[in-house]
Formats: sequence, structure tokens, C-alpha cells
Amino acid sequence: KKWVYTFGNGAAEGRAGDVAILGGKGANLAEMASLGLPVPPGLTIIADACALYHKNGRDLPEELKLQVMAGLHGMEIVTGKTFGGSQSPLLLSVRSGARASMPGMMDTVLNLGLNDRTVEALGHDAGDARFAWDSYRRFIQMYGDVVMGLDHEMFEEILEDEKGRLGHEYDTDMSAVEWQHVVSLYKKLIEDELGEAFPQDCHVQLWGAIGAVFASWTNHRAVTYRHLHNIPGDWGTAVNVQAMVFGNLGSSSATGVAFTRNPSTGEAELYGEFLVNAQGEDVVAGIRTPQSITEAARLVSGSDKPSMEKLMPEAFSEFLAICKRLETHYRDMQDLEFTIERGKLWMLQTRSGKRTTRAAMKIAVDMVEEGLISQEEAVCRIEPSSLDQLLHPTIDPGISRPIIGSGLPASPGAATGEIVFTAEEAVAAEAEGRRVILVRIETSPEDIHGMHAAEGILTTRGGMTSHAAVVARGMGIPCVTGAGSMRVDMRNKVLIGVGCMLKRGDIITIDGSSGRVLKGEVPMTQPELSGDFGKLMEWADSLRRMTVRTNADTPADARAARAFGAEGIGLCRTEHMFFEGDRIHVMREMILAESEKGRRAALDELLPMQRSDFTELFQIMHGLPVTIRLLDPPLHEFLPKTDGEIVEVAAAMGMPQTVFRQRLDALHEFNPMLGHRGCRLAISYPEIAEMQARAIFEAAVAAARITGAPVVPEIMVPLVGLRSELDYVTAVIDGVAAAVAQETGMEIEYLTGTMIELPRAALRAHVIAEAAEFFSFGTNDLTQTTFGISRDDAARFINTYQRKGIIERDPFISLDFDGVGELIRIAAERGRQTRPELKLGICGEHGGDPASIHFCEDADLDYVSCSPFRVPIARLAAAQATL
Ligand code: PEP
Ligand code: MG
Repeated sequence: KKWVYTFGNGAAEGRAGDVAILGGKGANLAEMASLGLPVPPGLTIIADACALYHKNGRDLPEELKLQVMAGLHGMEIVTGKTFGGSQSPLLLSVRSGARASMPGMMDTVLNLGLNDRTVEALGHDAGDARFAWDSYRRFIQMYGDVVMGLDHEMFEEILEDEKGRLGHEYDTDMSAVEWQHVVSLYKKLIEDELGEAFPQDCHVQLWGAIGAVFASWTNHRAVTYRHLHNIPGDWGTAVNVQAMVFGNLGSSSATGVAFTRNPSTGEAELYGEFLVNAQGEDVVAGIRTPQSITEAARLVSGSDKPSMEKLMPEAFSEFLAICKRLETHYRDMQDLEFTIERGKLWMLQTRSGKRTTRAAMKIAVDMVEEGLISQEEAVCRIEPSSLDQLLHPTIDPGISRPIIGSGLPASPGAATGEIVFTAEEAVAAEAEGRRVILVRIETSPEDIHGMHAAEGILTTRGGMTSHAAVVARGMGIPCVTGAGSMRVDMRNKVLIGVGCMLKRGDIITIDGSSGRVLKGEVPMTQPELSGDFGKLMEWADSLRRMTVRTNADTPADARAARAFGAEGIGLCRTEHMFFEGDRIHVMREMILAESEKGRRAALDELLPMQRSDFTELFQIMHGLPVTIRLLDPPLHEFLPKTDGEIVEVAAAMGMPQTVFRQRLDALHEFNPMLGHRGCRLAISYPEIAEMQARAIFEAAVAAARITGAPVVPEIMVPLVGLRSELDYVTAVIDGVAAAVAQETGMEIEYLTGTMIELPRAALRAHVIAEAAEFFSFGTNDLTQTTFGISRDDAARFINTYQRKGIIERDPFISLDFDGVGELIRIAAERGRQTRPELKLGICGEHGGDPASIHFCEDADLDYVSCSPFRVPIARLAAAQATL
């Protein structure tokens, strides 16, 4: 079996398409090498080996080891160096590389191959003994931590002590001899702590590092990250072993990270940061604040440190050309890592860059205009659920509030919350429903759960490519990094800003779009949904087949949904109208009335209120379809609950309290969600359906007269299981329609249909369709009734089910394709057998879930209906579903 793929020297055994085998990093290194770009030679051990490593008690097959040795030999030939050699020693980096990018989650070892012998040779080759001993101590520190399991801090303490003893402030003050001494202290630490020596055999080092990278696939933070990003555990990580190049060989060396376009705004400008005389992870770790790559970016930042463009013009122009080439080759914005070793540029990584949704929109639209990609591709490049990010509020520009600090605009949107200083505090606060801003000096992969729980993130160190920035952008959480004018005192748990000192629990606002930090809560405004967003949505609309409607109960919902592009109302839950203002009193009188006469009196009062609501909805929708559902919930939802309410309502109705309480008892149900609700109400009390139908028809007449646009109401009967139920209620509706037509002299066209929310209705769809002009799948109830899991109690154990792997996704959020989905397919097919023109839609929560929308496309539904804020998501997902 081929376990190892080599690359370098203008050739490679793998390609960019081999991501599943080689992981993202390995596949793209291979691609760059085969394009003839300057890539240090190396090899990739395939991701399949990871599972095998864990299965075989942390061992690897002999065949694999031989292939690694052969690859290593090839690297020696290309570089002219020898692994473990006393002259020209070859040093290696050993890095993870999974199929999906997991920034910083797994382990890396650099400078591998150094020992007491090779360190001397390296110093000789480089003409720099100080560099060699510094590299050696870095290696021992990394190896001691990653492979041997010693706490990184223990090494740092030794180093700090030494610097203190020598009176040095910076690492750069250390001399060769002083580093050499640190090396001996590090080695002693390892022996004292572990009772074994730091390995001098380079091959032992290599296999130790490879094993550690495979092992890191299952470390706590990697597992958390996978869980958050739905990355399957059985993918495993590949391991990349590559010849080291050094960015820390003096002032003509550097290391950096760049994006071919601005990852925050999408602007078509090279965007990146670098550090002179620094190694590998220094930029990402955010320990030193990096310099701009381009002169233009330096001018914007106002930094007095020179740009790479000025400092290293030759390497810069080569890099610029490579950026262009890679972007055109991959037809996407790239995220690159590079190192300059004594003036020579080396490419260490390329991949599709993570970006904010705003940037993703701009890049997709620009690339269509540049002729790089098609409109279809542009539409597919936006993750529908990420549109949520665009709906984030921003700080009202007219507001002036004390700015207590500022940093880099690392992830857009504004957020307000209480200050917390640790990930644990953030998680605990979120669990209590409090909104927090996680404030750190810098974040590390250990903070990932706290970052997820926070509304926003603020760090005082680090750049646009630091851990906090990258992760926050990926999560769509507002973030400000490198707020250098602020200071976090972790010991005393305070944040010191301009003119203030804030403690845990104090409120701040961060603006991830401008980098500002403000004291207290600040008014926010909603974003504009035009420009690139508008264009992309237009393309999506021209591609999709299904219509997107909204679930809207109030005029405010309906207006918001229209602004988001809803093409009608798929579900108006009329009961919500009864909870507003004084209406609840009349509603209660209606329910608690002891006779039809009493009910009719209350209904007469409700009629004008419903009529005016519907008139307004019809006006807002201006001729677009509007589906109105008859009263659905169990009556007990409207009843007074507290003693105070009971006394009040009884008095208002002029009923003696004892009688009133008896009436309440009579209405009590053991299982109301399966009780007296839905069409059962209309059958028990047809006068309720009559009133609602009358309100609908009279409103349709009124709206049509006002707007001149024809109104075709769709009247929907909930929770039908039997055709006879639907027949009964439809007859009531038809009767009212005829009466209203006579009274007003205006014939209103209308449809009557039903929700499919019960398995029986789905199975008997061919019969029910004889009486229904449309079906709308109420997948909330259909999920509840198919699983026999109460939708109101599911939350208590669904998490446990997910944690224990009993189910993968919450079926109330993402449709259960196998079970509930099967019923939908059956109902759609049988319904259309009877009535080919039967209109089919979905109006449960699933109507706004991208995966469920794909299912609806496959099942050939006519429309999806979702809450107003999900309408753009549904428009995009419906377009993607057709491609
Ligand atoms: C449903 O059951 O899916 C539905 C849309 O109705 P409701 O959520 O109001 O029960
Ligand atoms: Mg329902």
C-alpha cells in the first residue's frame, strides 16, 4: 500500500484533489511543488495511517516506515544535506494536516534532527552559533512539550529565570553560550521530571514526533473543534515531514502569513503580516506584533515599522507573483504561509482562506466580474447559515461614547456583554443566559469552548492572523485583537483601558468592524442588505426552483420578511394575534364561555380585530400568496394560570370564583399537545372557524379594494388526520365565503388546504387530497408525532442522545430524512396522484434549515416557509439545492 507521497524540486506524487488522502496541507504542498513553486522538499504520510496508529496500540506498519525512510533519502538528495549528519545536517518540520482545516488544534514539531552533535554542524553551516543553539533549545522545548508531555510553562520558567539572572530583557539579548546553558538546563529538566534523557537519536526523534501528531488527533481541543464543526472523527490527520527553512537567520530572513484578498472586507488587495528574524509559529501565536507586507497596508495602519515591500523588495515581488498565480490557479482567495531564508523565498502552505461572510460575498461577486468563476459557483461559495453574520448589528455611527481602547478589526459586527477573563467563566455565564465578552491577553486553542460561548472577543495582543482572529472569523463572532492601549491584569482580574479600570461583570461593547472598544452598552443599527449581498441573492433567485415564503404572524414580521425577499406568507399562526394587548381578555371570555351564545358574543368582539390584522397582512403582501391557519393550540394555553389572574378574569366575566375554577378544571388536559387542539377545536366550536373565515374574507375584500391587487387567501386547517375532519371544516369555510360574497358583492377566490402533521394524514394523503387544494408539512408536529417525542420536552434528553451517539442531529432542528422524510415523500407522492396540481410546502422550523431545504428540493416541494430572518438563508440554500 502507498502510505507516503513525496513532493519537492518541481515534482510531486499527489495533487490538490487528493485532500481526502493527504489532508489539506499535504495536498496543497504537492500542488504547489508540481507547479514549480519554491517548496522545501518533503513527504506526506496519508491520513488513513492515523486510524491504524490508534487501532494498533500506537504503532505503525513496517512498510510505512520503509517508505518514510525512502522519502527522507530523497529529501537528502534534493537538499544535499544528511539527516543526523555531522556535516550539513538536514532538519525537519513535522506537522499535522487534516482534510478540513483545524487551525492550531493539533501538534507541530520544528527543528527536528538537532542533537549535541548536529547543533555544532548547524552553527558551522549557518556561520551563526547563536542561531544554532537557539534552534536547539526551541526544539527541546517543543519536543519536550508535544512528544514527551512536559508542560510548556516549565521550560518558560527556566528561560525567564536565566534571563533575569543575566539581566536580559529579550530573548534576542541571549548569546550562543547562554543558549547553550539553557539547553543543558532543559535537558536536565527532562531527566529530572521523566527519568529519561532527551533522545539524541534523530530517528527516535522523528518517530516520536510522527506518533505525537497522530496522537494529537484525539486531544481534547481537537475533539471539541471537530464537534463544533461537524468533522467526522474517522477522517484522521495526515502527517507532513518537510525540510526546515529558517526565517530566523538574521535580518534578511523573515516569516509571514498572507491572504490574497482582505479576509475581513474581501477587498482585492494582498493582505498579510510578517516578522523579521522569526520562526514558524511566531506570527500566528501573536507574541510579537507583526509588520505589514504591503506598503499600502502599512500606511493605513500608521505603523512606523517598514513593510516587507520596502524591506525586501525582491522577495516581495516574487511573492506577489506567486499570490496572483495561486489565486488564478485555485480560483479562490488563498491563505498562505511563507518563509524567507537569507533573501530566498519559500512557500510553506496555501489553502482556501477563511473569511467573513461579508468578504465571502465580495470575493464571490468580484471573481464573477473578473471572469474567474461562474454565477453558479459564486452562489455555491456562500455557506447559507453564515448569512446570519450579515444580520449582525453594528454600532450606530452617530453615537459618541467614550472609547476606552482600540485594536484591530479582526471579525466584524458589534457585541455588548459583561467582561469575563477565562473561557470557563464564559461558558458558565452563557449557561445562565448572560451575554459576555471574553477578554484575554491572547487566546489559545484551549479557549475554544469559551470563545464559542461569548458574544465577542477582545485581546490585547496579536494581529489579524492570530488565533483569536482566525477562530472568531470562522465562528462569525465579533472580535478585536491587539488592543495594545489596553492592559489585562489576569492576577487581579481587571481590564485597564483609557481612563478607566474595569472588573469582571462590567459591561463593554466591542466593534469588530472598526476595532474600537467602548464602555457600557451602545445603540446598534441593522446592516444594509444591498450591494454584493443583493447581487448574489439575485443570482440565487434566478437559479432556484422553490419559492421562499415566510412564517409571519404580525405586520412587523411580514414587513421584515418582505425586506428579506419573502415571496408570500406560508404560515400565519392566528393564535399569536390573540395574545396581544387586551385581546387575551376577550379570548379568555370566549374560551370560558359556558354556551355557544356566550362564545359568539366574545367572537363578535374578536372579529374586527382579526379583520384589521388580516387586512394589513394582505396589504403588505400586495397580491403575494398568504396562508392563514385556523386556530390551532390547545385552549389551556390561553387560560389564566396564577391565582391573581384567575381572580381578575373571574371578576371581569362576572362569574363566581368557584364556578370559574370548575370551568378551568373542566378544560384541563393531561396531554394537551395531543388533545383538544387543531381542527378538533373547529369541529367542537365551528363558530370559531366561522369567525376566522369571515375575518379573512372580509379582509380580502377590503385589501383588494385598497390596493387594487387581487388577494387569494389560502386557508389552512391544522392537525388533520381524517378526510372527514377536513370536509367538515371546509364546509364551514365555504359557507362563510358564499355569505361574504353575497354581502359584499365581491367574489373572492380562495384555496382551502391542510397541514400534514400527523402520520395518518401522510399515509392517507391520496384521500385527504380529494378535499385539499394544498398541503403544508408542519414538520414540528410531524416530527413530534412520528418520533413520539414531545417537542416541548425533547431538549431534556436530545443532548444526551447526541452525546451518546444515539442520534446525530436534533430532529427538531434538522429534518429526520429517514423517518419523517419518508412520510413527506409518501404524502407528496400520494397527494399528487389524486391531484396533480396539489401545491406542496413546508412551514415547520425545518423550512429555514439548509440541509432540510435540500431535502425539500429533492422531494419536489413547491415552497419552503421560514421565520423572517432565515428568508435570505433559505433563498440561498434553495438555489444551491438545484445545482
Ligand atoms: C408545525 O407543526 O410544524 C407547525 C408549523 O405548526 P406549529 O409549530 O404551530 O405547531
Ligand atoms: Mg403544528
